[in-house]
Amino acid sequence: MSTRDDELLQATSGVTSRLRVGLIGDPVAHSFSPRMQQAAFDALKIQASYELWHTPAQQLVERVRSLCEKDCLGANVTIPHKQAVLPLLDKVDPLAARIGAVNTIVRRDKYLHGSNTDAPGLLNALHEHGLGKLQSDGKISLREYTVVLLGAGGAARAAAFAVAEAGVERLVILNRHLERAQLLGEEVQQYYDGPLFSLSDPSLLVSHPASIIINATPVGMHGDISPLLADVLARFDQDTFVYDMIYNPVQTYLLSQAHTMGLRTANGLSMLLHQGALSFSLWTNQSAPLEVMRAALAR
Ligand code: NAP
Repeated sequence: MSTRDDELLQATSGVTSRLRVGLIGDPVAHSFSPRMQQAAFDALKIQASYELWHTPAQQLVERVRSLCEKDCLGANVTIPHKQAVLPLLDKVDPLAARIGAVNTIVRRDKYLHGSNTDAPGLLNALHEHGLGKLQSDGKISLREYTVVLLGAGGAARAAAFAVAEAGVERLVILNRHLERAQLLGEEVQQYYDGPLFSLSDPSLLVSHPASIIINATPVGMHGDISPLLADVLARFDQDTFVYDMIYNPVQTYLLSQAHTMGLRTANGLSMLLHQGALSFSLWTNQSAPLEVMRAALAR
C-alpha cells in the first residue's frame, strides 16, 4: 500500500487531521465544484474538505507549492491558471501536455502530478447523452460523427484533442480569430489523421450526417446571443446534437434555438459532473459516487 493509500485510510478512520483539496483560480466563488466534491467525500466517509482557494497570478507559485503538504490530496485548477501551472508540476500526463492545460493536480508522496479531466469528462458526458460507443478498452469512440467545435480557447483545446482521440469522422474548428483555429488544428493534426478544417466564417459551415456542435466559447453566458446564427443552425440535419459547455444559464440562446428546431441538446453540467468525477477518482483512487455528485449539482 502506498503512502497515499495509508493517508487516505487513516483519514477515513479519523486517525489524522482532515485532508484538503481545493479549487485554484481567480475568481472561484461562483464554482459548483465544492458542493459536488464535498458530497462525494461525505458519501464515501472520507474525512476531507473541498475548499475554494482564490489565487491571484502572483500567488500561484506559492499556492502550488503548498499542495506538497501532507494533508493535501491535490487540487482542481480553473481560469486563468490551467496553462500556467504546467511548469510548476513534477509530472504532467501526455494528454494534458498535448492540450497544454491541467485542471487536476494530484499529490503523490512529494510529487505533484497534473492531468486534464475536461477532455475525458466531455467524452463521458457526450456518451451519457447517447453519443458514441463504449469500446472494450473502456474508451469512447465517436467514429462516424462530425464535430463542429466553436472556439479555440482552453476548453476548446480539451474538446479538440478529446474528440480527435475518439476518432471522429471529421473535425471542424470555428473560431472568431482564424489563426487560433488554424494553430489548434495543426497541433491536433499531429495526432489525428482524419479531415480537419479551420474556419472563422460560420457561413462556410456545411452539414454532415451525425454532427455534434460543441460550443466552447462563453458566448451565451450573458443575454440572448448565440455563437451561431439561426440560419446557419437551420442548415444542420435533424440528427445533429448541440452541446453547450455553458451551464449557467441552464438553457443558452443557442440551446433554445436548437431545441426549437427539433435538435437534441444538452448543457455543460454533464461535462462539469464527469470531469469532477474523474478528478475525484484521481485524488482518492476510488470510483466517484456519480449519482451523489449529480444530485448535489442539481440542488
Ligand atoms: P477561453 O480560453 O477564454 O476561450 C474563449 C473562446 O471563446 C476563444 O476561442 C474566443 O475566441 C471565443 N470567444 C470569446 N468571446 C467571443 C465572442 N464574443 N465571440 C466569438 N467568440 C468568442 O475560455 P475557456 O476556458 O475555453 O471557456 C470557454 C467556455 O467553456 C466558458 O463559458 C466556460 O465556462 C466553459 N467551460 C465549461 C466547462 C464545463 O465543465 N462545462 C469546462 C471548461 C469551460 P478568440 O480566440 O477569437 O478570442
